[in-house]
Amino acid sequence: MKKILVTGGAGYIGSHTAVELLNAGYEIIIVDNFYNSKPETIENIKKITNKDFLFYEGDVCDKKLLRKIFSENEIDAAIHFAGFKAVGESVAKPLMYYRNNIDSTLTLLETMQEFNCQKLVFSSSATVYGDPERLPIDEKCRLSVTNPYGATKLYIEGILKDLYISDNEWSIAILRYFNPVGAHESRLIGEDPNGIPNNLVPYIVKVANKELPYLNIFGNDYNTKDGTGVRDYIHVVDLAKGHLNSLNYILDHKGIDYYNLGTGKGYSVLELVKTFEKVNNVTIPYKIVDRRPGDIAVCYANPSYAKEKLNWEAKLGLESMLKSSYNFSKNTNHKKL
Ligand code: NAD
Ligand code: UDP
Repeated sequence: MKKILVTGGAGYIGSHTAVELLNAGYEIIIVDNFYNSKPETIENIKKITNKDFLFYEGDVCDKKLLRKIFSENEIDAAIHFAGFKAVGESVAKPLMYYRNNIDSTLTLLETMQEFNCQKLVFSSSATVYGDPERLPIDEKCRLSVTNPYGATKLYIEGILKDLYISDNEWSIAILRYFNPVGAHESRLIGEDPNGIPNNLVPYIVKVANKELPYLNIFGNDYNTKDGTGVRDYIHVVDLAKGHLNSLNYILDHKGIDYYNLGTGKGYSVLELVKTFEKVNNVTIPYKIVDRRPGDIAVCYANPSYAKEKLNWEAKLGLESMLKSSYNFSKNTNHKKL
């Protein structure tokens, strides 16, 4: 059985991927410092899959810890989720973002090299396309970033490319996620940010649960079907399955490659709000406010390369995403924010 190290496996996307890996018969080892997650997620992954695995609590920037993990386990490949991900926070605390995201990646790569483990799946983001050159966005579109978080992803993509150029034995899949939403059908794992959420769906969920009074829609004067921003929302379970297919691929093929993981469909904020109301039978009060600085009008993927190379495509639709997000929230505590 192949052993896979999952960094940040207690987090939102990592926990869903851990479930898919265990269900597919992989052995996994998770390392996480719970900076943005909770210990109960580790227990919930075990509950969902009825499988056990090793967990190391600690920082991926800690070389001693990583050496310990690699010397205690014969690891075949790593999936690297650990990192900070809030765009606004990255503008306020750039050094913290560069330090954590880049340092954790360098520490992981150095340790992998030392232990002769050269297979990696990396979490990048559609944010590396900046204001997209064309739509739908394909992997050859020009790359540009507008904030420190995006810059960490672009730098890491560059580091991985240089590493591969230096040693063609590496197998690296760089996954550029579009907008992950939704939760596992068990309602045991999902996205539960602390405080006031930045992202649209977690914010709407808090409005639906009356933790927040109304949604602020950031602008209705974009050049889109109804003036509100358009994004490619992808169910986190589909996204997790994309990691499984990527892993299967890199275990058999050397090289470095880049894949858009999205559905290929764009929905506006208003369309999403209406769909949320309909499938969950709730009302979401909203106000139209100014555009959010740094937002782009439209972003959706051309996901055909992932289909061709990884035999992966998203299957779950917006209704399923929004139903599962709300269902998961019913299992968590609600307090007015
Ligand atoms: P998350 O915050 O839920 O998960 C990240 C996990 O990594 C958390 O459990 C956190 O505690 C852990 N972590 C962070 N730094 C660490 C460190 N130095 N050592 C050990 N553990 C550490 O985020 P997520 O949404 O699951 O995102 C996972 C990855 O995907 C991130 O790299 C993120 O940048 C990327 N990504 C996320 C999105 C999104 O919208 N969720 C979109 C594109 C890319
Ligand atoms: N958005 C909004 N109100 C919110 C949060 C987001 O209107 O409280 C809009 C945002 O302008 C964008 C879309 O919802 O058009 C998705 O934003 P999110 O932050 O979830 O993801 P992004 O694509 O910006 O990473």
